[in-house]
Amino acid sequence: MNYVCSSRVQRAHTDVLAVYCSDHRFQAGVREFLDQKLDLRANYDSLVVPGGPQCLVEFEGLPKFSWAARKWSRVLIDLHSLKRMILVAHHDCGWYRWLEDHRHSHDPVRRRQEDDLRAAKRSLSQISPGLAVELYYASWNADDALIIEAVPC
Ligand SMILES: [Zn+2]
Repeated sequence: MNYVCSSRVQRAHTDVLAVYCSDHRFQAGVREFLDQKLDLRANYDSLVVPGGPQCLVEFEGLPKFSWAARKWSRVLIDLHSLKRMILVAHHDCGWYRWLEDHRHSHDPVRRRQEDDLRAAKRSLSQISPGLAVELYYASWNADDALIIEAVPC
């Protein structure tokens, strides 16, 4: 079977990497936010893994995840001369539920996620000091509309 996409190969350079969670509930909303609000028009690299930007933060007992994520980020930063990274965490993240069970923590998850976003930014600044890193948090309202808000650095 051959399927011919209506999409064309993206030939324009990008200097942006977006890092967000693989949770299916947020894919369309995050892409809409990147394409329309940030005006990226599908021209960005993506790193989409469970927990999204948490992968850039060292977690006790699980050092291989952050090692791999930092390596992937470094390669993309070098290959594509990246200048901007967009990190998106989200409400009700299953990866965080798994982590909280792992560490027997009762910290409020939202606070932990925002702390991890800031830690991820610090980690990326060590990899590439000139990189602009933006932090966001996705959730939904009473009408199930996805909402993405900036997180203070
Ligand atoms: Zn998630």
